[in-house]
Amino acid sequence: MAAMTSSSGPSGREPGPSGRPLLNRRLAEFGTTIFAEMSALAVRTGAINLGQGFPDTDGPEAVREAAVRALRDGRGNQYPPGPGVPELRTAIAEHQLARYALSYDPDREVLVTAGATEAIAASLLALVEPGDEVIALEPYYDSYAASIALAGGTRVPVTLRPRDGRFVLDLDELRDAVTDRTRLILLNTPHNPTGTVLTRAELTEIARLAVERDLLVVTDEVYEHLVFDDAEHLPLATFPGMRERTVSIGSAGKTFSFTGWKVGWITASPELVAAVRSAKQFLTYVSSGPFQYAIAEALALPSSYFDDFRADMLAKRDLLGEGLTAAGFDVYRPAGTYFITTDITPLGTTDGFAFCRSLPERAGVVAIPNAVFYDHRDAGAPFVRFAFCKRTAVLEEAVTRLKSLAG
Ligand code: PMP
Ligand code: GLN
Repeated sequence: MAAMTSSSGPSGREPGPSGRPLLNRRLAEFGTTIFAEMSALAVRTGAINLGQGFPDTDGPEAVREAAVRALRDGRGNQYPPGPGVPELRTAIAEHQLARYALSYDPDREVLVTAGATEAIAASLLALVEPGDEVIALEPYYDSYAASIALAGGTRVPVTLRPRDGRFVLDLDELRDAVTDRTRLILLNTPHNPTGTVLTRAELTEIARLAVERDLLVVTDEVYEHLVFDDAEHLPLATFPGMRERTVSIGSAGKTFSFTGWKVGWITASPELVAAVRSAKQFLTYVSSGPFQYAIAEALALPSSYFDDFRADMLAKRDLLGEGLTAAGFDVYRPAGTYFITTDITPLGTTDGFAFCRSLPERAGVVAIPNAVFYDHRDAGAPFVRFAFCKRTAVLEEAVTRLKSLAG
């Protein structure tokens, strides 16, 4: 994968005392994550950071207070139980039931993780043998490639292609990508960075394929509450034959705007949960003690919270989307997530890397070159991602600055 390497400081790939590279071969290709790289660029240049996807305001005050209460009451300050505190596991199970009519036993079918990131890593480390193939939709979130590599798997990207204003999965291409070595599909919907939300028809076909070829599926659903217009988030686990072969991943970071708390989870069959727990217990064992109690309360917030959150992000999507269009970008209006992917070709270049490197100086804004999320670099070259999970005034200022690109 085309990770950007930090321009200052060691990469970890330098030779050690024996002359052998310090960083192992599995990770050698990855360099510094683009998010750290571009956030550092924003800090260095004072540019508005629409790169890394984190909100610039915290989530609900009641949830923050719940964390303070848990801390003060001494709940979660020592190692919480390995699978997560019962209150949170119960709240996760209730959320899946209320939202999607998916019934999970909080004791055997829910596992709390250190964010979705650990859920992804632990799932792959647990379920993939060296040499197994893992199919991921390209462009893919950057930790996927690294986690597949750590597990010794081989990643097989299936490229989402722009068509009629949306990045579309070619189901024939997906079908053709499955071989006798395919172990699992790592799916992400709503999809970062393209904003695509897979449709019922697409998910039906994916489910059919998984059953037919006896594949496991890990579905990253961290943006489940951020779907717009007439798009609908449908968990793959609700499709025929999928509950027993799907690991569904959620995260409080996105839904409640507390990305620093790193509370994530999986829901799956008891057997899958046990397998993933085997890996997870040796990664972090446990994490986020008091925050787990707070997120249990967050998941029980009235539906108005989730509706307001979505409405707020929708307004921001439109504000930034219109601004980017006015600035000369081709905008792919996202059906989900808090990211907008644009094509910079109308601005006279197709080199997203160079464009993003120069954008702070040219316009005082930081964005992410989507090419880092591709194995097929050329397919991703002209695309650039902007995050809109920022205060309205910040987005307005960013839009004003970006308009200078239009000349
Ligand atoms: N998956 C996707 C698609 C993401 O965009 C992110 C980024 N937050 C993650 C997983 C990681 O989530 P967390 O912060 O809960 O580890
Ligand atoms: N998920 C966030 C994004 O896509 C970043 C998370 C991270 O920095 N690891 O921008």
